[in-house]
Amino acid sequence: MPRYEITIEKDACDGIFACLTRDPRFVEGERGLATIDPDGDPIYDCEGDVTDTAERVVATFDDDRMDEAKQAAAACPTDAIVVKEVDG
Ligand code: SF4
Repeated sequence: MPRYEITIEKDACDGIFACLTRDPRFVEGERGLATIDPDGDPIYDCEGDVTDTAERVVATFDDDRMDEAKQAAAACPTDAIVVKEVDG
């Protein structure tokens, strides 16, 4: 399984929430901005590490759902989401 990292840049996030409909791990967080909750998916039991700071949310996952995260990134009108594979 690829290990991958999802980043949401809070400066760029506009709270449009197109990402939420593509990948349920994206949820509404503080100040009406998107954040990531590995437990936010009611169907899949996801495990991931999430760091949520003032500037950005960084989440690392080790599963086969990178495509969903990429769809969320593609749907974001402000390009606030970056998904990249990282070394395991
Ligand atoms: S789609 Fe982009 S701008 Fe909208 S909430 Fe998600 S990350 Fe933020």
